[in-house]
Amino acid sequence: MNMTKWLGAVLLSVLLLVTAACANTGTQENTQSEKENVSNETKEKNKAVETGNKSLSNIKVLATGGTIAGSSNSDTDTTGYKSGSLGIDKVIASVPQLKDIANVTGEQVVNVGSENVDNALLLKLAKRVNELLKDDQVDGIVITHGTDTLEETAYFLHLVVKSDKPVVVVGSMRPASAISADGPLNLYHAVKIASTKEAKGKGVMVTLNDRIASARFITKTNTTTTDAFKSLEHGYIGEVAGEVVSFYNEPIRKHTSESEFDVSNIKELPQVDILYGYQNDQKYLYDAAVKAGAKGIVVAAAGNGTMSTEAIKGAADAVKKDVVLVRSSRTGNGIVTHEKTDDEHHFVSSDSLNPQKARILLMLALTKTKDPVKVQRYYEQY
Ligand code: ASP
Repeated sequence: MNMTKWLGAVLLSVLLLVTAACANTGTQENTQSEKENVSNETKEKNKAVETGNKSLSNIKVLATGGTIAGSSNSDTDTTGYKSGSLGIDKVIASVPQLKDIANVTGEQVVNVGSENVDNALLLKLAKRVNELLKDDQVDGIVITHGTDTLEETAYFLHLVVKSDKPVVVVGSMRPASAISADGPLNLYHAVKIASTKEAKGKGVMVTLNDRIASARFITKTNTTTTDAFKSLEHGYIGEVAGEVVSFYNEPIRKHTSESEFDVSNIKELPQVDILYGYQNDQKYLYDAAVKAGAKGIVVAAAGNGTMSTEAIKGAADAVKKDVVLVRSSRTGNGIVTHEKTDDEHHFVSSDSLNPQKARILLMLALTKTKDPVKVQRYYEQY
């Protein structure tokens, strides 16, 4: 090897060694930063809320799925999409304007269509909401939810949340992937409402389509239209117009901090079923529900809660077997009044609660008593 070749070989080896050393350091640095990322992520998750801008409220968004997190390959598909397919981070990121009105942090509780929300999930959600609201850093909570059973979850929380801080349940009728999706603005409104001082003490609220409703009165009245949610006989409690949140009414029935229902130590809610009333309905439906272990039955009866002779026979037998029976109405509107049939058979009437909300109240009532007189009182107070 001549001198030039030898020098060339030495230089090449030095170069290779330096490159290898650099690459090695790079790997170590990556590993280090990956570790940091992981621990930051964990920290992020454990943090209840983002508290970045001190002049803004800290709002936690608990996500449960539904059409607001729904997506389809076609932007005109507003019925065949898959609900609960986007994660909360994507849903929040689709509304960058949220940063201007609140410090928003998301948490995925579950990602399902609300037809699959069950009692176990209701309990899990209520416990998480109560845990978060105890934190001084949390000013309010928004819950994203499918619209099909949204009113049931909202009413359940209305009865078991132990705080005056605002809780707003929001959904959308069109999936996130649709032209003119209603979810982003509904979510913006929900965060806006939850950050508004006047929203305190109003119980659990529901917002869609610019309206603010009490969980006690709101119901879904249409299968597909964007104005599906109505607060029929008793009206809305407020409205969002542009950037302005205005309140006009307050729910006066007992709720949240005033409610005597407490699920903090409850592991399972009693089974309550809804039976529909119709011409030629049969006693065996009641017998089957009792046999299957129902502790309560709500009847979605006709008109002012009227039941056929057969249905009354089935219901009266159920009551003799310690089942609490509540008459509600399939009309979807109005009060079911307490009548002689109730006294005669120890039935309960549902006041103005529709069957699905009467079921929620009955489950909670049964955590306290089986006495129909006491249960009736709950329907008059809540
Ligand atoms: N099936 C959907 C759900 O309730 C409908 C919706 O969110 O609008 O989750």
